Amino acid sequence: RLVIPSTSFANSTRKDHSGVVDRVIKLDHGDPTMYERFWRQMGDRSTIVIPGWASMSYFSDGSSICWFLEPEFAKEVVRLHNVVGNAVTQGRHVVVGTGSSQLILAALYALSSPDALEPITVLSAVPYYSSYPSMVDYQKSGLYKWGGDAESFDKEVPYIELVTSPNNPDGYSRQTVVNRNQGLLIHDLAYYWPQYTPIVSASDYDLTLFTLSKSTGHAGMRIGWALVKDREVAKKMTKFIELNTIGVSKDSQLRAAKVLKTISDSSQDEESFFKYSYKIMEQRWKLLRAVVESGDLFSLPKFTSAFCTFFNQELEPQPAFAWLKCEGDIEDCESFLRGHKILTRGGRAFGDSPKYVRLSLLDTDENFMLLLDRLSTIQH
Ligand code: PMP
Repeated sequence: RLVIPSTSFANSTRKDHSGVVDRVIKLDHGDPTMYERFWRQMGDRSTIVIPGWASMSYFSDGSSICWFLEPEFAKEVVRLHNVVGNAVTQGRHVVVGTGSSQLILAALYALSSPDALEPITVLSAVPYYSSYPSMVDYQKSGLYKWGGDAESFDKEVPYIELVTSPNNPDGYSRQTVVNRNQGLLIHDLAYYWPQYTPIVSASDYDLTLFTLSKSTGHAGMRIGWALVKDREVAKKMTKFIELNTIGVSKDSQLRAAKVLKTISDSSQDEESFFKYSYKIMEQRWKLLRAVVESGDLFSLPKFTSAFCTFFNQELEPQPAFAWLKCEGDIEDCESFLRGHKILTRGGRAFGDSPKYVRLSLLDTDENFMLLLDRLSTIQH
């Protein structure tokens, strides 16, 4: 059994007769509460004050295609990409969205054609991000429809492929799999940040999505951004957001600008944001692998290392989620773990086998340690 320091349970709730905490732990969402400690430590360095009279207009920047984009936010987005080296920003239009969720829909709208005879097919390789199918189909759009696994797509029709790299749920780096000349691509790079994966080169695609939710951990701010090569596509995405929410909260954009600025300003410090978060992810993966490898009930993906241009060394991926497989005769890993009060998302939601589950590794220290303790108990 893993020995867990008692301080990690300081505020925990119910305990069973043997003194072990027995509450349900919810790891089925990728809620990035892990980052709160860092931002508390930053104190006023990431605080902004917004007076009552500020940010009142709908409009932000008349000179930008994206007229509701706050210039300060756009500036900090470009600066952070230059600091991290994870995306080419030259020759790109920045489009801000209410989370990258809104930008996924904006991109589907922009890439589809109102004159097409059939809705365009939207694909992603299994295991894909579990929200894609419902995001694509919930409005029964006449413009686009969910087509499932990109690996098994063999129809000679136009398509949009969602390429998620590193991938949610399994953490592997990905490229397009359909690879046809006329294929339209959306690169969802929510996790292409140094704490999760080696930054091997600056991404240089037509339409790339990022989000504050996974980069800095500010999911509640609801800010994402797209880097878009084609002017007409950027215009159509802006139009979608105009029709959908008449822009994106200025207060959130200003706050996001400050958070990104804090990261860039301190990027060379000993306790920089990426060093701090890299160390936590490294520690968590080490502990998780040790527990999983101590028995034969579970297994985890194996990754190869690559040279990270940000940290200037050879590093292994350490994804935000663990794509855990139940070995042996456990067919439904999600129900099995639910029986042990661990809530996860089962493989079927990602188009894959129920032998897999996705576990969030971005939760609080307390929940993570509780997870380790439970997995360890189950195995022994
Ligand atoms: N894409 C991927 C791959 C994600 O994992 C998420 C969040 N779970 C999103 C998009 C949406 O993120 P948000 O709307 O919070 O920016």
